[in-house]
Amino acid sequence: MEYREEEWLQLSGLQHFSFCRRQWALIHVEQLWAENLRTVEGNLLHQKAHDSTDRESRGDLYILRGVNIQSRELGVSGQCDVIEFHRCQEGVPLQAKEGLWQPYPVEYKRGHSKENDADRLQLCGQAMCLEEMLSCEIKRGALFYGETRRREEVIFTAELRSRVRECLSEMHDYLKRGRTPRVKPFKGCNACSMAEYCLPGMLRKRRVGDYLDRFMEEAIREGEDVGSIKEGRGDE
Ligand code: SF4
Repeated sequence: MEYREEEWLQLSGLQHFSFCRRQWALIHVEQLWAENLRTVEGNLLHQKAHDSTDRESRGDLYILRGVNIQSRELGVSGQCDVIEFHRCQEGVPLQAKEGLWQPYPVEYKRGHSKENDADRLQLCGQAMCLEEMLSCEIKRGALFYGETRRREEVIFTAELRSRVRECLSEMHDYLKRGRTPRVKPFKGCNACSMAEYCLPGMLRKRRVGDYLDRFMEEAIREGEDVGSIKEGRGDE
């Protein structure tokens, strides 16, 4: 199955969704946006990656910056901060370049490496887009963290790829239904740029619709059509 262009999601949303699906929905379903220090610092770091020279050649290394990417199969589009092309026999041909080149995506992030896989999922999603665009296989890429100024190599395992597919499929579902899920507040709420819209304190309060919310979450995950149930609700 292929998604139509008007259905494409922003690939960067994968990181938000993996951190908190409610945060993603507030930004991408309800179109709300708030900036805090973390998001401003993150944007500055990205601008730095994108403002540099667009392309650069260093022997067997060719570097492109700010490359637009997309996947019809996943229904996403976005941008790669940096793609390094390493000359090697298993690589792909590039326009106006001799030889074969293996793509290696590099994503710039503020802060440092985290336990959760949000950044790794986003990078893996980029690699999957590039694979579709260049008809090749990309086994690894790297995250560069601004705070530690270190690179972390990420291997694109079958498990990581399948989580990318699952998340994107859920995101398409939420967007199609125009639904913002409720989630349990967690320690990440303290630094969340969307806290003023989300009101995590309110999420703690029990309400009559909680049971139905949980039921619908589970039904969405299982791919059931709960549109008819939602239409019958009076508390939203
Ligand atoms: S405040 Fe917490 S629950 Fe609300 S969107 Fe942010 S991270 Fe998610």
